Amino acid sequence: MFDHLNNPVLIETRAAVQRYIDEELRPLERELGLGSEDAWPRDVLRGVWRRSSELGLYASCLPVELGGRGLNIAEQCALKADLAASGAALAPHVLGDLGGPPRVGNMLKYATPDQVARYFEPVIRGQKSTCFALTEPHSGSDAQSIRTSAVVDGDELVINGTKHYISGAPFADFAIVMCVTDASTTPPSITAVLVDLDLPGVTVSTEYVPMSGQHIDADIHFENVRVPRANIFGGEGRGFKLGMSRINVNRLLHCPSMLGLAMRAYEASVEYAGQRRQFGGPIARFQAIQHMLADMAAALWACESMIAQTAMLADAGADLRMKAAACKLFVSERCFEVADKAVQIHGNLGVTRGHPVEQTWRKLRMFRIFTGTSEIQRNTIAKAILDPASA
Ligand SMILES: Cc1cc2nc3c(=O)[nH]c(=O)nc-3n(C[C@H](O)[C@H](O)[C@H](O)COP(=O)(O)OP(=O)(O)OC[C@H]3O[C@@H](n4cnc5c(N)ncnc54)[C@H](O)[C@@H]3O)c2cc1C
Repeated sequence: MFDHLNNPVLIETRAAVQRYIDEELRPLERELGLGSEDAWPRDVLRGVWRRSSELGLYASCLPVELGGRGLNIAEQCALKADLAASGAALAPHVLGDLGGPPRVGNMLKYATPDQVARYFEPVIRGQKSTCFALTEPHSGSDAQSIRTSAVVDGDELVINGTKHYISGAPFADFAIVMCVTDASTTPPSITAVLVDLDLPGVTVSTEYVPMSGQHIDADIHFENVRVPRANIFGGEGRGFKLGMSRINVNRLLHCPSMLGLAMRAYEASVEYAGQRRQFGGPIARFQAIQHMLADMAAALWACESMIAQTAMLADAGADLRMKAAACKLFVSERCFEVADKAVQIHGNLGVTRGHPVEQTWRKLRMFRIFTGTSEIQRNTIAKAILDPASA
């Protein structure tokens, strides 16, 4: 995938990531006997972030002046696709996708020097992990309907509310929490606040497990949690804008992860079709199987091409609103179809709990929900078509 990208730094980084996975992560997974559907102990995850950091990989996606390798968005896509295609349970932690540098790199410009030193630099070094908390039990797509409040009391803010389905929360040290600071306006004034998750009044509850089986999402409850006003991040009333500022790139950057997962399911299907024998020969000789493989290959090529083109536009500074939404919509739906065909080709193995293609099918299904559901992506695209001035 993305073999046309020939920046030597990227080529070296891709090789180094592969070596780290093969020589250290897979042996660690075997030694601990843990897979992608187990709850990984926090200290093991910390060890992975630290080691990835020592190898100079953890902050790869950040600019060189922030300790990264200065990869552009197209190059980040290549790296993310490789990681997803590796199938390693710890793959999402190599670059800190869930709570590491990719979560904070673009946010640094909004942070005060004190916030950079206390919160953001430790994340870049792999010493702390963060999460982004917007969604609430009654507030999903309609993100401006959140109710978690932050009320000023002297030099402090008092926070009350519940955040729901927050990725990375089970192992995060602090959260970037979207709070209503003035409910009297329409829409309400929303402010981002940095909240340490070990403060009195904070509870992180991991009572549900998403269909992917991964223990990476949790709810965060805040009950009269006091934080200094200095923890307001990006300015009072500017939280929603800040949250939305990276949404287009975030939507795009989910796409190579889906592509990597689907590519692995496709490759497993090609191999299985060649070795599984029915009616006296391999199932790959049936045209029905060949057509499924052909459709999978064509869909993957379309997805890779669309991601590469959208990433190129992103790197050129183009307006991504419509294109990132189209890319996320298309890639999430096509990659899920690829996984579905992989299940079909694998017959009863494909529907067996825990088989890699079955796991991939469940993982890919989830991408049609987060960072904007497919319907929300379609709304964005339709708005750009019908009302370009306001899109
Ligand atoms: C695995 C996972 C990880 C997540 N990680 C995070 C995280 O880290 N931080 C965070 O803040 N949130 C996170 N979320 C929450 C996620 O952003 C929301 O689930 C998502 O925005 C959709 O909200 P909802 O689930 O409440 O669905 P709802 O908004 O209730 O939607 C239900 C259905 O109605 C449709 N719908 C809603 N509004 C419209 C509309 N205007 N037009 C057409 N159809 C509509 C939706 O498309 C959907 O089909 C995560 C969710 C999941 C599943």
